Amino acid sequence: MHTADLTVRLQAIAVIASMFVVATAGAEPRTPAEAFGFQPGDDYKLASYEQMESYYQELAADSDRVQLREIGESALGRTLYLLTISSEENLANLDRYRDISKRLARGRVDTETADVLANEGKAVVWIDGGLHATELAHGQMTPLLAHRVATEESAEMRQIRDNVIFLLMPVMNPDGLEIVRKWYESQLGTPFEQTNPPELYHHYVGHDNNRDFFMNNMPESKAVAQVVYNEWYPQIVYNQHQSSPGYARIVIPPYSDPVNPIIHPGVTTGLNEVGSAMGNRFALEKMPGAIADVGFSMWWNGGMRTVPYFHNMIGILTETGHDSPSPRIYDPKVFPKMLAYRANPGGVGIVVDEETSGVPDARVLYPYPWPGGESHFSEPVNFMVTGSIAVLRAASDSRLKWLTNIHRMGQDAIAAGMSGTRYYIIPGGQPHDDEARNLVNLLLEGGIEIERANQPFRAGGNRYAAGSFIINSAQAFRPYIVDLLEKQTYPDTRLDPSGESKPPYDIAGWTLPMQMAVDVDFVSDAFDYDATRIDGVIGVDAGEVRGSANFGYALSHASNASIKAANRLLGDGESVAWSNESFRVGRTTFDAGTFVIESAGDETAARVETLARELGVDFSGLNRRPSASLSSLRLPRVGLYKSYVAFMDEGWSRWLLEEYGFGPVSLTDEDVRSGDLSELDAIVIPHPDGRASYRDDVGKILIGHAPGSMPDRYVGGLGLEGAFALQTFVRDGGTLVTFGAASGFAIEQFGLPIRNTVAGASRKDFSIPGSLLRTTVDTTDPLGYGMQREAAVNFVNGAAFDVLGQAGCVDDLLNQRHCREVSRGGRPLVEMPSVSRFDSIVNYAAEDVLMSGWATGIEHIATKSAMARIPHGDGEVIVFGFRPQFRGQPRGTYKLLFNALHAATID
Ligand SMILES: [Zn+2]
Repeated sequence: MHTADLTVRLQAIAVIASMFVVATAGAEPRTPAEAFGFQPGDDYKLASYEQMESYYQELAADSDRVQLREIGESALGRTLYLLTISSEENLANLDRYRDISKRLARGRVDTETADVLANEGKAVVWIDGGLHATELAHGQMTPLLAHRVATEESAEMRQIRDNVIFLLMPVMNPDGLEIVRKWYESQLGTPFEQTNPPELYHHYVGHDNNRDFFMNNMPESKAVAQVVYNEWYPQIVYNQHQSSPGYARIVIPPYSDPVNPIIHPGVTTGLNEVGSAMGNRFALEKMPGAIADVGFSMWWNGGMRTVPYFHNMIGILTETGHDSPSPRIYDPKVFPKMLAYRANPGGVGIVVDEETSGVPDARVLYPYPWPGGESHFSEPVNFMVTGSIAVLRAASDSRLKWLTNIHRMGQDAIAAGMSGTRYYIIPGGQPHDDEARNLVNLLLEGGIEIERANQPFRAGGNRYAAGSFIINSAQAFRPYIVDLLEKQTYPDTRLDPSGESKPPYDIAGWTLPMQMAVDVDFVSDAFDYDATRIDGVIGVDAGEVRGSANFGYALSHASNASIKAANRLLGDGESVAWSNESFRVGRTTFDAGTFVIESAGDETAARVETLARELGVDFSGLNRRPSASLSSLRLPRVGLYKSYVAFMDEGWSRWLLEEYGFGPVSLTDEDVRSGDLSELDAIVIPHPDGRASYRDDVGKILIGHAPGSMPDRYVGGLGLEGAFALQTFVRDGGTLVTFGAASGFAIEQFGLPIRNTVAGASRKDFSIPGSLLRTTVDTTDPLGYGMQREAAVNFVNGAAFDVLGQAGCVDDLLNQRHCREVSRGGRPLVEMPSVSRFDSIVNYAAEDVLMSGWATGIEHIATKSAMARIPHGDGEVIVFGFRPQFRGQPRGTYKLLFNALHAATID
């Protein structure tokens, strides 16, 4: 979400030297200005990641108060760094302080021991230079912050260094920093110097890099989780952003309602306290413009700020204004004199009142209004450095309290885990064993303690195999376990009793066992078991290759890993088919959709052995060709539409398809408009990001960037020409797969004889901005192979399909009207594509549709189609109303996409 654009660009402005001065007091390390040749925050200037890397290496070499560590690699292979800054004495005893921090956070020591440890320990504070790369100031300010905390000799800074271990991750998304820096420099001096690049600023996930902190799909998230939840357990985590409302300068805590009830109230109150300390410092340093309660709620889990809440940590996000090195004027005449709290379709709470304008009046959560005017890049830099020092000071001033508090909250969680649901059991040997393992690993990465059974055991009336996973919820981070494994019920937050509900800030439901189709049992009573605590994360248990294989092998379709195995075999030139019916071999029944691999001898055998070992899938030897009919598969040639608007859903799709061996080719607007698409089996059009409305989202594919808003090359979208090329591709036999609002694009442009039943619904009548919905799957259709009959789907402002009624008409892109009503005493107007072959593969359930999250008007989609195949010419369109791969979370629905792609290769 970005700032409401209240800015006017300065046409010509002299470069003004930055007012920001670093008090180095003659310390030895060079200042960032000396190292870079300009002060970070100077107009029009950005340091590169390489310059920063050398600066941090130099700072660590020259200062005994700074240590530099490599903590991982980015998606594109850049090194991720962590600086540890503290007094020389503290750095000499880091292991001891880390151990104290861990023992207090884990809450297992008794109160007396905890008090002794807290007295000895140091407050641990994480601050980062942000991960949203188009928010340019935070990556640039960290050299100043590091230098200042390491070298300033004020009484305050000495006290901070003595009391605090400061963990500084200077740049969380170095790939993005470089993508945006290069774009900015290439556009500098043109009308587009303040535009965002026409690509995602995280190679795969763009802005969603801050939606990945419980799944940890991306390497950057994994690296951070390791430090925060498994090594250092900071009591305070401060994550930088830049999307302040245009009339203010920085958004600080307190945040907005609702609060997730599983979060310890000590977190919320502690957070409010740190927010007040920040606001107080801005006031006394004469920095007007700090505002609180601007819509960032305390409900959602999954962001860098919010995951800490479920670990009893204070999670802070600030949103600072002015995100570009180009100077701007913020005209107070367009500021909202009155700040009105109303539901905002964008999800963020404050909406300005258009009727009144001028600098807002002071209010409790905006006590020092900013008068607006000319603004330079040094200002957000200064706000971020000052905000960071305010947080460090708050940590230092109340060191003992923060250390004691995290221990008390951990103890409360342990006590809560002694009643109610005490254990969560993830049975071994389930159909989605691969995803059960992924679930265990992401919980381990989040600092959860998990045991693995050495022997079979009984619990809650069930029998469990050795190898099953046991989570005793009597542990300090219990809120994280409960929140991720149990259903969410988002509260109905009406702004007034008769009014509209306030929509969730982000998604409202994310329950992982539902999304990942992993069985997790909840057990209240204690039971006996023999298990070993898992250290680190778990690897794959090798699968088996059973029986002799004179003909070949059978591979179940039930796990996602089996799809990966099938693609590896296809890529190696092996013969792989789907069985079109179930078949029996001896006593074993193989379901329809089973992969049948015809062996070419020793090479095939060796490949199968390797896949069983590496992916943990089981193969069954077949001595003769199965009795069932088989459909041969090829490795699909997949095109993935890549808009210059840079949809995150495209990045997630690309990541997923690469992970599973589908190796998609990216298709730009020009590629689609002018290219020959006939080499492809399938084209995927991802959901155009946006939460404003289904209509606007549909338009983004066709229209793209508006003319004049970006360099010519990047404007225009697919256009009618592109839509026509896609229609030709399908008519000639290709498969088009569309997600969410992209389905609306296909329906409208191809004149498909279906409609999205909620396309025109007002938000009051129908709103599901991010919940898990119950569906039934036709598992006899090839597109439903390997699925469970009932599946949770991830619905984010999605669609529900219905065949057009008898009188329904649709216009195609050539403005030809297709009507189902024919021959009222005359001849049919236009031959209507047969609608009898509208195959619904997935339907929203008839009742209890909402599984987790929040929904208004869900009855409008009950029983409607959630995923359908519509024949079109010689090809077909496969429309998804939900998002089968949303943020890499709903692993239970990946197969619906994979099947659509494999089916496209069957002749
Ligand atoms: Zn951001």
